[in-house]
Parts: sequence; C-alpha cells; structure tokens
Amino acid sequence: MHSPADTTADALAQTAGGAAIPASLHLMDLARVVHEVVSAPDLDQALTRVVRHVREAMAVDICEAYLGEPKTGDQVLLAGSGLSPHLVGQVRFRAGEGLIGRVAERAGPIALADATTHPDYIFHRKTGEADCPGFLGAPLTHQGQVLGVLVVRRRAHRGFSDTDEAFLVTLAAQLAGAVAYARATAVPPDAGMGKGRGGPCLSGQVGAPGVGAGTAVVLFHPMALDEVPDRAAANIETEALAFRAAIARTLEELTVLRSSPVSSASALCAALFDAYALMLQSDELLLGTLERIDAGHWAPGALRQIVEEHCGHFAAMDDPYLRERGSDLRSLGQRILVRLVGGHRPAVYPPGTLLVGEQIDAMDLAEVPEGSLAGIVCARGSTLSHVAILAHARGIPAVMGVGDYPLHQLDGRTLMLDGYLGRVYIDPDAEALRELERIQRAERAMAAELSHWRRGPASTADGLPVALMVNLAAPAEVALGAGADGVGLYRTEHPFMLHERFPSDDEQYQIYRHVLAAFAPRAVTIRTLDAGGDKALPYLPVREDNPFLGWRGIRMTLDRPEVFMAQIRAILRADAGLGNARVLLPMISGLEELERALALFERTLDHFVQDEGPTRRPPIGAMIEVPSAIYQAEAVARRVDFLSVGTNDLTQYLLAVDRTNPRVAALLEPLHPAVLRALRDIVDAARAAGKPVGCCGELAGEPGPALLLLGLGFDELSMGVTALPHIRRVVHRFTLEQMQRLAQRALLCDRAQAVRDILEGALTEAGLGALGAPAL
Ligand code: PEP
Ligand code: MG
Repeated sequence: MHSPADTTADALAQTAGGAAIPASLHLMDLARVVHEVVSAPDLDQALTRVVRHVREAMAVDICEAYLGEPKTGDQVLLAGSGLSPHLVGQVRFRAGEGLIGRVAERAGPIALADATTHPDYIFHRKTGEADCPGFLGAPLTHQGQVLGVLVVRRRAHRGFSDTDEAFLVTLAAQLAGAVAYARATAVPPDAGMGKGRGGPCLSGQVGAPGVGAGTAVVLFHPMALDEVPDRAAANIETEALAFRAAIARTLEELTVLRSSPVSSASALCAALFDAYALMLQSDELLLGTLERIDAGHWAPGALRQIVEEHCGHFAAMDDPYLRERGSDLRSLGQRILVRLVGGHRPAVYPPGTLLVGEQIDAMDLAEVPEGSLAGIVCARGSTLSHVAILAHARGIPAVMGVGDYPLHQLDGRTLMLDGYLGRVYIDPDAEALRELERIQRAERAMAAELSHWRRGPASTADGLPVALMVNLAAPAEVALGAGADGVGLYRTEHPFMLHERFPSDDEQYQIYRHVLAAFAPRAVTIRTLDAGGDKALPYLPVREDNPFLGWRGIRMTLDRPEVFMAQIRAILRADAGLGNARVLLPMISGLEELERALALFERTLDHFVQDEGPTRRPPIGAMIEVPSAIYQAEAVARRVDFLSVGTNDLTQYLLAVDRTNPRVAALLEPLHPAVLRALRDIVDAARAAGKPVGCCGELAGEPGPALLLLGLGFDELSMGVTALPHIRRVVHRFTLEQMQRLAQRALLCDRAQAVRDILEGALTEAGLGALGAPAL
C-alpha cells in the first residue's frame, strides 16, 4: 500500500525524469479531487485541498486556484499550494490582465514553457513564480461562464505535455460544476435577486412562479444512501433497535447467499461473503453507527455518516484493491439502508413544507397533506417537467434543476424559495424574509386585480369570443378551473400514477365522471394515458436510456390494448347522460399509429353499444407534438375530429432538448422561429382539413405567446388553472386583427429573442407590463 507521500515522491521522480503523468492516475485523481470539493465544509477549504492534490498528482511546484469576483469580474487567488498562504486574497487580475486574466477572457487553456517571455506576463514579486516559468492555466467554466482559473507552474523551462494539458482541462471542467454549487451557498447578501435580499443561495430553473418560505423536507430514494439527510432521532432506543434489526436481517441474507449453490461453487464468492459478514459486524460499522445514534442521529443518517467516513478513507488509499473495498462498504450500506427504511419511511410534513429531492413526482406531492406544501426544490428537471407543471397549476412555487448540490444537507433547514427567478435561499436573513413579504403583498394585490377575470366568457377587445380552457391533472384543480370554458387537456396519467396498480374500470369511471359532471355541459378533453418520459407508473417499471424517445404515450397503450380499451370504456360510461367528453390521443407520430388507435376506439365503442345500447360517440382528437406529425398534420386531421398541439413536447423534439434536463434548459425555447413555423403549418393543415385546432402546451398560458397563438389562428387555448385570469385579462386588451399582425411580425423573426421583444413591446404598449402582469 502506498501512502500519499509515496505518491508525491513517485510523481516528483517522474517529473525529474521528464515523464508525463501516467494515464492510470488520471481518473482516480479526477474523482478524488471532485470528491474533495463536494465533501469539504466550505469552498475555501475545498479549493485548498484541491490545489494540494493537483500539485501532488501533476508533480508541479505551484498550483493556484483563482475565482472570479462577482462584482468586479477580477480573478482573485483563493488557494495556492507551493505559495505563501498570505498571498491568498491578495493577488488579483482584472479581465484580460496578465496570463490569468487572459485564460479567463479566452475561456481556453494557455500552456507556456517560459511564461516570463510572454507579452501578457505580469510578474508578482512575492509569489515565487519567477523561479517557475513553466505555466499551464485552464478556465473553470460552468454553463458557459468562466468561474475561475486553475494554474500550475513548474520550475524547469520545460513545457507541459499534451497529456498534462488534457488532464488540467478535464479536471477544471469537473471542478467547475462542483465549485459552482459550493459557491452558490456562499453568495454575498447583496448578490440576491432583489435589493437587500440575501443569504446563501442555490440557483436553478424557474419551475413554477411564486415565493414561499418554510422547512425543507428532503425526499430520498431508499436505495440512495448518499441522499439520506441528517435528522435527529425521535427516540434513540427505537432507532438503535431498528438498526440492529437491519444488521441482523442483512446478515441472514448474506448467510443464505453464501450457502447458495452459485456462491459455494466459487471460493472467491464465498470469501467475499465472509468478508461482508465481517464488515457488517465490525466495530467501525456496527459500533460506529450505534455511537452516532446514541449521539442523537436517526439511524439512516448515522449509517450514511459512518459509511461516508470509511469510504473516504478507502478512497484516499492508493492501493486499487483497498480502494475497491470502499465500494463494497457502500453497497453493504445500501443493503442495510433498504432493510432499515423498508422501502418507504413516511416523512413528517410540517405546515410550510418545502419538498426537496433529486427527482420529485406526482406521488410525492400527493403525500403532503393539503395546505402544508409551500414549495418544491428539485435537483433535476426544468419548467416543462411534469412536477413543475403540476406545481404551477396548484399555485405552488417551484425551483427546478438546482443540480449537484448535496441536498441532504438541507433537511430541516429554513429555505426561502423564489420561483420567479429560480433561486433557493438557505437560512434566509431577516431582510430576505421582509422581501418575501413584500412580494407576497404584491401577489395579493395582483390576485385582487385578477379576481375580476376569474370567470365569464373571454373575448377580444372587439368583442369576439375566445375559448379559454384549462389543463387538469390533480382533483384539486377541478374546482379551481371551474370558471373556464371547458377542459382542453385532462392528463389522466396522474390518477394512474397515484395508484399502486392500474385503476379498475370502476375507479376510472368515478374519476372521469367527477370531472365531466363538474364541467357539463362544457367540453372535457380526456387524454388517454400518456405515461412514460418523466411520468413513470410505479407498477410498470421500465428502464430506458432515453425515456422521452421510448415507450411513451400511445406507444405504450397500443402495446397494451386492454389498458387503452378499459380507459375508453370508462370514458364512455362516464359520458352517459352528460355528453361532454372528448377523447385525445397523445404522441401520435404517424398514420399507422393513429389508425390502430382509432380502430381500437371504434371496436370499444361497438362493444359498448352492444352491451349498453345506443351511446354518444365522443369527438376524438390527435395531439400534434411529435415532429413527424407536423408533416402529416392534414392527413391526421382528416381522420379525427380535432387537433391539439402540445408545445411542450413539440419544442423538446423539434429542438432536440430534453425538457427535464437542467443543463440544456436555456435552449428549450418554444418561441424558436422553427417552432413558430411549425405552429403556423399545423394551423394551415387543420384549416385545409376543416378541423378545429387548439394548443394545450404551457405556451398557451403565457400572456404574450397566448396573443401570438390566437393571431396564428388557434381556435382554442388550454392552460394551467392559475394562468386563466391572466390570459383572459390580456386577451381582452387586443383585437383579433392586432393579434394577427403580431403573429405576422413574429413569423418574420429569425430568432426567439426578437419574437419576445415584439410581444413584450405590445404588452407594455397596452399598459400591461412587459410580462402582462403588474410588476412585482
Ligand atoms: C405537451 O406536450 O405540450 C402537452 C400538453 O403534454 P404533456 O406536457 O403532458 O406532455
Ligand atoms: Mg406532451
């Protein structure tokens, strides 16, 4: 086994011999350095550890980490190894100044055998760099922004090799994401979203608008040990007993596994199980965890801490065999965890719960008691993730895509969430909370102004009626959406997701009947099951590399015709005597698919008529949300009664941007000129076929775009319930001709920003504020 000192010595020896870093070191070092950042208590300590490790791993004489100062943009030395510690915070370079400023400015690496001869070189007397002319600098770039610069220097007048450069660039890229999140927790008070608001803050994507403050409740997957939050033990004895029982059960399982024919046949396998059993009963794991429980931690948290601690020791070992024991310990920890939480451990949801998790779904939302949910913070996802759409519809603020931050650290802490800007403040200060109240007052004033627009038919400034419908998923939205002209989209996958099996015919009947009765005689568009993508059914687990391109929507139900037919039967039953149901088919990508679905629909209808007697045939429509369907829209329209455009998916598929991936969320632009032209073509196709066309994507609920859609000729807009009064109010200020002119101008634009400018200009001119709402 090598000690870290041996590694340095080895590496230095290699440098003396002029050899590059062996490739085998790279991955290990990268992983280790990133681990340093994520596990360090703060950014300063993280960077201090990083520069030390990089200096050792690359066998260089100096390693420096600079970070850009948010206010000035200056690159400031925040950590150095091989330098006097007094220089930290003292050395700074303006943008473009010196080699450091140059690396930041060009956002690319610079490698020089002798930096002193470079025209940009600026000599810093106290750094000792005069003796180290070999220079290699790489930018720390995160989401297109240069956060800082990582520099290594060598004494000899000898350049850095390509491998060195590749290593530092890769390391900087890995580090930048971790630095961005570590830094996010140390934002200075005035760097927040408004004057005087502050506290450490995480940035993400806007999920659903609104602000809220409350207590974080972190959800974790029972298999994800590293997501387990720290919590106080409610009862130390019970926790200790539960932990001992989990150990005993895991041990039993190991004994059974060890004696299985497969393991007995292999000496190696048997030895491994023996080693696991020893680990399970070791002082480190067993007593260590019990000690933490005794100190007041709940058992899962105590287990995570101990496993992390020991895995950290293993990871720091240079012997690959011993490092591997770290992963054994982690998988053992996972096993114990599953036994401990039994797959599900109901959390306590205090009033003002802010639900925090890697990935949150409809079931998680449904578990929080009505009225207790104050907001949602999700590590993954974007505005168009289904949980964000659900939150929006329920008026719950949500921030999506906060990324790799160790969320378990947030459990039980006070958070303030700004869904307008996509920010989450951790332990917000008094000023931040005052700002929250100010926004909430403005929201109340806006709500009062909008109260006039909650009900009644919508019309344009010249008195033409406009059909504004609502999108529904959760039962709570039914009452809220009551003032609409009908339901343009009922996402039936949500009731399916809240069950532990497919809902029975009768259960489905009850659910659909409730919605149809609430809106009768107004139309209710019931979309057939659109599970898949980010709407997994818990009882139909599917593993796919690209779920949005996989077994989703109509593809799944055509493969399971019994599910499709049961749903149609329940809709027909629920429609009896009311006569306001419409049926909508999701994810239609071509005529074969459509015709198969229509044939199944007709067959179900025939059987239903045979069994129940004469029955109304509900209008049936197709969603246009897959690009191929744009080019066949007219043929599709001829075969159905109406079209409905899903701009959420249409945008994702046209622009090749995963709607749930926060890394590319900024590219998810539904006003992209290509999307607008597609929308125009779909309207033209529907006209040619003589069929009505609606839009039920989130775009229809945005004030400016709603005008554009009506101007393009959409017959009906369907939106989340909270958007309805806004849109009714905005539509009332414009004539149809004005909207048509806006659409014509927008179609001439060659970029989305120009379209947004046109729409914002029109809203401002109409006295509605750039976003169609009073400024907050
Ligand atoms: C859409 O894709 O625009 C749509 C309305 O459907 P969903 O968001 O449920 O996929
Ligand atoms: Mg869709």
